[in-house]
Amino acid sequence: MKVVVVGGGASGCFASLLIAEKGHEVILLEKNEKLGKKLYITGKGRCNLTNAATGNAFLNNVVNNAKFIMSSEIRFNSADTRAYFENLGVPLKVERGERVFPISDKASDITRAMEKGLKELRVDVRLNTKVTSININDGQACGVTLEGGNVIDCDAVVVATGGITYKLTGSTGDGYKFAKAAGHKIIEPVGGLSAVLLNDKDLKNLSGLSLKNVVVKATSNGKLVYQSPIGEMLFTGQGISGPIVLSLSSYINRILPQNLVLSIDFKPALDEFALFQRITRDITELKSKQFSSLLSGLLPQALVDVFAKRLNILKTKKVNQLSHEEREALVKMLKNFTLDYKGLDDVDRAVITSGGVCVKEIKPKSMESKLVKRLYFIGEVLDVDALTGGFNLQIAFSTAAACASDF
Ligand SMILES: Cc1cc2nc3c(=O)[nH]c(=O)nc-3n(C[C@H](O)[C@H](O)[C@H](O)COP(=O)(O)OP(=O)(O)OC[C@H]3O[C@@H](n4cnc5c(N)ncnc54)[C@H](O)[C@@H]3O)c2cc1C
Repeated sequence: MKVVVVGGGASGCFASLLIAEKGHEVILLEKNEKLGKKLYITGKGRCNLTNAATGNAFLNNVVNNAKFIMSSEIRFNSADTRAYFENLGVPLKVERGERVFPISDKASDITRAMEKGLKELRVDVRLNTKVTSININDGQACGVTLEGGNVIDCDAVVVATGGITYKLTGSTGDGYKFAKAAGHKIIEPVGGLSAVLLNDKDLKNLSGLSLKNVVVKATSNGKLVYQSPIGEMLFTGQGISGPIVLSLSSYINRILPQNLVLSIDFKPALDEFALFQRITRDITELKSKQFSSLLSGLLPQALVDVFAKRLNILKTKKVNQLSHEEREALVKMLKNFTLDYKGLDDVDRAVITSGGVCVKEIKPKSMESKLVKRLYFIGEVLDVDALTGGFNLQIAFSTAAACASDF
């Protein structure tokens, strides 16, 4: 069979390898001057290749359409990915949170290994080659048209064009146009794993301040939308970012700012009662010291002024003169420090695209379109996205393997 794979990122390269291993003729088309441009920047250049978690532990980290991805994850999971890359000559290591990286800490080793494999399998890799449309005849994919008008005829087309973030890497959403032209529904693509922008003027000077052991929460119309695990975040000047904020963003990216309230719990290990007791103890110890001393013991110094202003309590007020109501207000603010949500950062700076080709019209076992025979969609172009930790690349590999299993 002659197969054209459109897009030489993680999913396209991987599918090309697996399909060529089965003895098929594979032509891999990439519009950039090199393969895997996005792969080079993954994991801050170290490439968090996959996550050692499998089964439910893996699927719990998939934000959208975990059920759809289940069968491909079962048939080709992170253990398979690790074995495949070790076999390609890339030794791997497992770090905190079961994150898998190349021992070399070099994302380029992953791309280089796949390039070597593609060469050995005689995959016809064509760089600087942009596909402008998928050709369909009688309900079946039969080729692609390239920029300039040339046509490549084939027996099957695999669309692996990625999402719409970090467009300079080549992910410009072309796959959505191909899918739409083939009659597919597209779930509006928005950013996931993104920084969050805030309107709060009093937080603008906190740029660079990082917080550990805090929780971020989102509520909409009084209902809890998302509560992060205890973790790290930071202030950016424009808003907030960091691990727990990136996760939060993937759960709020379709809610209008006016319908959303965000908050930080600075003391997630203590409930309000225990925190009140702790503050009462502190006050007894501090005696006639100033309110700012009490705040300094509870918060990073940079937040002392912010809290004093928001609580409308003078920093110089003696702690033993704080009223019961003032102590209670302090407890409430530590547990529920509200943020004025403006929206997510620009989609181009988001780590992942949430949305894409609607999975209801895709066969979960093979990634083949239910509308057009021998047309496949794999990787980030699909409406599947996950949290950080190597899960998104594993989705690229699992869907590529599911597609290859159909040949
Ligand atoms: C900064 C950053 C860090 C990340 N780090 C990690 C990480 O450590 N671990 C993890 O699991 N995930 C990470 N991700 C997410 C991960 O990189 C993506 O989910 C993954 O690369 C998706 O692979 P893909 O093959 O579907 O798409 P892409 O990697 O985006 O590849 C698509 C390819 O298709 C090509 N293409 C597009 N249109 C056409 C066309 N018309 N003709 C020809 N070619 C075309 C593009 O040029 C591109 O090369 C990160 C993402 C970013 C932005």
